[in-house]
Amino acid sequence: MTTTPSPARPVGAVVPADVVVIGAGQAGLSAGYHLRRLGFVPAFDAGEHEAVTSQRDLDVSPRGDRDVSPRGGAAEGRAGVGTYVLLDAEPGPGGAWRHRWRSLRMATVNGIYDLPGMPQPEIDPCEPSVDVLPAYFGDYERTLDLAVLRPVRVASVRRADDDPHGRLLVTSDAGIFAARAVINATGTWTKPFWPAYPGQATFRGRQLHVADYIRAEDFAGQHVVVVGGGISAVQLLEEISHVATTTWVTRREPVWRDEDFDRDAGRHAVAMVEERVRQGLAPLSVVSVTGLIWRPELRAAAERGVLDRHPMFTRIEPDGVRMADGSFQRADVILWATGFRAALDHLRPMHLRGHGGGITMDGTQVADEPRLHLIGYGPSSSTVGANRAGREAVVRILDHLRTADGGRDEADPAAGRLVGAAVER
Ligand code: FAD
Repeated sequence: MTTTPSPARPVGAVVPADVVVIGAGQAGLSAGYHLRRLGFVPAFDAGEHEAVTSQRDLDVSPRGDRDVSPRGGAAEGRAGVGTYVLLDAEPGPGGAWRHRWRSLRMATVNGIYDLPGMPQPEIDPCEPSVDVLPAYFGDYERTLDLAVLRPVRVASVRRADDDPHGRLLVTSDAGIFAARAVINATGTWTKPFWPAYPGQATFRGRQLHVADYIRAEDFAGQHVVVVGGGISAVQLLEEISHVATTTWVTRREPVWRDEDFDRDAGRHAVAMVEERVRQGLAPLSVVSVTGLIWRPELRAAAERGVLDRHPMFTRIEPDGVRMADGSFQRADVILWATGFRAALDHLRPMHLRGHGGGITMDGTQVADEPRLHLIGYGPSSSTVGANRAGREAVVRILDHLRTADGGRDEADPAAGRLVGAAVER
């Protein structure tokens, strides 16, 4: 697994920064790229920060050479725009791609957009994505000098006080960061969704989620019930069916498409998810509204009868599942391909969820909280969406910081040009 050397970790310090980015997958790296592009610099270099312990001490900059008081001043940064910190819980680059099963190859992923500003190298389509993408992300971080701090897990984000222009305190296992704005890019991989079914605890076989899946051979000669109607469910059904017998259950009849969705269909799907989060509803994944595409190996699986879908079982029994028609299906394994939820537990102290069960969004910004952006969330939970969201969040945050500073940066033509350049891309 690729790793990159990490800058020094500010354990025990409160580090002020204009922008804290949480998560360095596709979305967080896109944010890092656009921060760099607009002239933001890492909040400190190795060994440069000073340990500070009180709110008053937040007036001390990591370099001790400028004012980074909780109200204004910090947007200036060392390069004239601002400072950032990019935190990631993983021990090395790649985000969720570090954990995909080895049989998910570059030829069988859905299509991975290049990170902004640096194309993927020539790739053998047979290579596992778990090898190719972390290596690419590592090269990207090094080439752009993004200074990702890892492994650093954020435990909470909360408002320092009632001041709407005050700091957001980001508490991590490497200390506390006092941010003027936070970009959250924590993905979904760490939050697998397991629905609850009667009798679940009585099952004598093995239950696992897609997030725990390693290889089909682990189920050789067994009977596997696969639950879920998404891409992972059908890909794993196909693969497991070569070494085991299978049963496929889904809550809804899956929707199949003959071809990849075109640009318009893709835009329509994103717009549907966008509308949900604008209304404060929990997001659906973009993939859930685009349907399943008939790939050649899936057609072959359908011909073998592997994709005969059954309605969801009604209960789980010690040796199998009770099907909707009352029949019993013996099972050794239940594989839950039931998706993921946004990994946002650390944002709980911000009290963001409304009556709709979701977070009301205005583009990438949390509505009514211009200091907090969620990227790789809802409509931007794809590689192309994450790229765009990183750019939008950074441009809007720079605008917010400038406004909070009373238009001070309007006098800075360089910053204005940079914003213009980012928006045009
Ligand atoms: P991630 O890659 O998950 O990165 C989030 C990062 O945040 C991780 O490094 C994580 O460790 C870190 N993090 C999480 N919590 C914390 C915390 N509290 N503190 C610090 N760091 C934290 N999309 C496509 O466009 N094409 C595809 O082919 C495709 N295939 C997919 C296949 C599977 C099986 C799945 C599940 C999803 C797939 N997706 C695909 C969707 C895909 O996950 C996203 O497009 C993209 O990888 C998500 O990037 P991200 O940056 O939002 O999240």
